[in-house]
Amino acid sequence: MIVVMRPGASREQIEAVARRLEELGFKTHPIYGQEKTVIGAIGNKKALSSEAIINLPGVEKIVPILKPYKLVSRELKDTPTIVRVGGVPIGGRNVVLMAGPCAVESEEQLLTTARSVKEAGAQILRGGAFKPRTSPYSFQGLEAEGLKMLARVREEVGLPVVTEVMDTRDVELVAGYADMLQIGARNMQNFRLLKEAGATGKPILLKRGLAATVEEWLMAAEYILDSGNSNVVLCERGIRTFENATRFTLDLSAVAVVKENSHLPVIVDPSHGTGSWRLVPPLARAAVACGADGLLIEVHPDPVRALCDGPQSLHPENFDLLVGELVAVAQAVGRTIGFNGRSQQDIEGFAGEKTGSGPV
Ligand code: PEP
Ligand code: MN
Repeated sequence: MIVVMRPGASREQIEAVARRLEELGFKTHPIYGQEKTVIGAIGNKKALSSEAIINLPGVEKIVPILKPYKLVSRELKDTPTIVRVGGVPIGGRNVVLMAGPCAVESEEQLLTTARSVKEAGAQILRGGAFKPRTSPYSFQGLEAEGLKMLARVREEVGLPVVTEVMDTRDVELVAGYADMLQIGARNMQNFRLLKEAGATGKPILLKRGLAATVEEWLMAAEYILDSGNSNVVLCERGIRTFENATRFTLDLSAVAVVKENSHLPVIVDPSHGTGSWRLVPPLARAAVACGADGLLIEVHPDPVRALCDGPQSLHPENFDLLVGELVAVAQAVGRTIGFNGRSQQDIEGFAGEKTGSGPV
């Protein structure tokens, strides 16, 4: 439930209400607004407590939260949350570009990719050191060595890094290197992992499970917020449907649904969503048009030789072309995109040129 305090309620009154709620067994989450403060009270003892709370000084009313997710819901907080990753704000007017290889393969591969995606306007470098592969015989990632490469390349190029953590046993290790922890689709409902990753306080990129409903995805985010960490960015990456023309079905309607129901930022991964680099540009444009707060795009300097997800990885030149197109789409929906918000000049420069899906 939400305890709405009267305008002008004092700090002492707010704290007294929060203390009483805690005595009654609730977890409390005060949100200090411009005019009013509300206290989110999460627990199962509604009937017992409204009586005990409604008459306390400064309390205006008590409103139940109807959705099963509470802390992530717009019912509790209707202003968008901005998550900062190494100084890059996600969830504001600028659409954030995260790009890089599926997997860290070598320092040279990572450095080359990082330089080129930064040049094109990316603000965050992605790269997996621990890879969740369908086959145990496929490349599993460079693990700790890969993390060290990510950290060195971050220093060299100046981009914060996001990388996946797959197991609770690695949370401390990965958090020691990454600016943002990625929870992959296959682990979206690994609840111990959600809690432990959340407890690091690092920003979390929570990918949608490949067979998860939006509600299940938001409930997974709820675990992280419940662990005391509200720095969560959701990532739509495609779900399993009967359609097999694409690797997954990119559910862009989920972006709009999440925006309606949650204050958390939501980004889109058209690389895994489609499985094909040719389809990445059109779906990336659509994602920006429908309100995504960012994009996660796989880029590889030599996609044909990539150890993981080559067929869906853009060549750096195509990534650069794509960003040019996205500038115009972002502008059409009242937003900027990428590093320093690539400018009007870009739009003019790219007008009429071949699209990012052209061959390189
Ligand atoms: C990835 O980002 O490389 C990845 C494995 O993504 P997902 O968990 O969405 O499959
Ligand atoms: Mn991948």
